[in-house]
Amino acid sequence: MKDFDTLCVHPLGRDTHPNGSVASPIYPSASYDYTGGEGLRYPGFYSTYNQQRTGQIIANLEGGEWGITFSSGMAAITTAILSFVQQGDHVIFSADLYGGTMALAEKELPKRGIAFSYAGNTAESFQAMLTKTTKVIYLETPANPLLGIVPLKQVADLARANGIITIVDNTFASPINQCPISHGIDIVVHSGTKFLGGHNDLPFGALVTAEMHQNKILSTAELYGGSLSAQACYLAERSLKTLALRIKKQNENAQFLADYLSKTAGIRSVFYPGLPSHPNHAIAKEQMSGFGGILSFEPDLKPGRLPVFLKNLSIIQPALSLGGVESLICAPAETSHRGLTPEKRRSLGINDNLLRLSVGIENASELASDLHDALTKTR
Ligand SMILES: *Cc1c(COP(=O)(O)O)cnc(C)c1O
Repeated sequence: MKDFDTLCVHPLGRDTHPNGSVASPIYPSASYDYTGGEGLRYPGFYSTYNQQRTGQIIANLEGGEWGITFSSGMAAITTAILSFVQQGDHVIFSADLYGGTMALAEKELPKRGIAFSYAGNTAESFQAMLTKTTKVIYLETPANPLLGIVPLKQVADLARANGIITIVDNTFASPINQCPISHGIDIVVHSGTKFLGGHNDLPFGALVTAEMHQNKILSTAELYGGSLSAQACYLAERSLKTLALRIKKQNENAQFLADYLSKTAGIRSVFYPGLPSHPNHAIAKEQMSGFGGILSFEPDLKPGRLPVFLKNLSIIQPALSLGGVESLICAPAETSHRGLTPEKRRSLGINDNLLRLSVGIENASELASDLHDALTKTR
């Protein structure tokens, strides 16, 4: 395994900046001399200097050749998919998808004459959905909100054998816990808004792939226009210096809370890839070097008591998003999966009391006490 402690702090090796500065400069220029520019290659995507730097930093962390940042995770995802499909093509998605990606599949692809199917979390299930026109396989692992795991190498091998591009949303794992490219995946996308940024204050997206896909992706990116400002690129770069430190602490805290909740009376179920009880624990162990900072669980509460439980928490904040240094909690049935019918939610295993917990870097025992006290007060 790569040593991420050093790599996160020095992702581009020993940097040389003007005046010997240690922090890197912000170049706000949206225009460059076209007669003498030295390889600044994003003419229509702005903030070229900081874009190239930040993209390359994330590429180096993911073990890919080339990377680019975007103004949101969705911009990275839309660009990745639309760079490789056209009218008449077919895409296979894993069934547990981020809501925005599901909406892209269901609302936008049909408008463009692009068909799609959903596969379950096994390579066999992806194989069963293959058609002659399948061009892209897109998946999330671990996935929201039940932390489903898809075997990366098996799906990558299947896709390679059939000339299909694979895209993995690595938002939940981060490169510290999982590098899909090392398992044969072609493209990694991120909502940098989550763990990469890590402070719930910086919306951005990222894409990492091989150099041979660079021109194709850049030309789609320029058309859809989701470029990130030089200032935001710099903040992303700064956040990434502490990525390994933050993720290791979040992994530890999440494992501690998953173990704690598993042993706590009044908790019906706990979902975390680091628990031996997780149905895909063995695959997670094979392809991940840490199990991540997200878990979900279902407290045994009387109907209508969930809002009271959330009010009774004093450290963990009921809020959307995830991956930041502060612990956040939300009920998918009321938030990310609100648009689905109750029957559809139940079929996905998302009960009304299910809670997704994004574990921050606070003291783990204090987080456990916060959950314990809120449960006791609520019942
Ligand atoms: C939040 C999220 C996205 C979307 O990212 P934005 O930065 O909000 O556009 C995509 N995938 C996953 C898994 C996410 O959690």
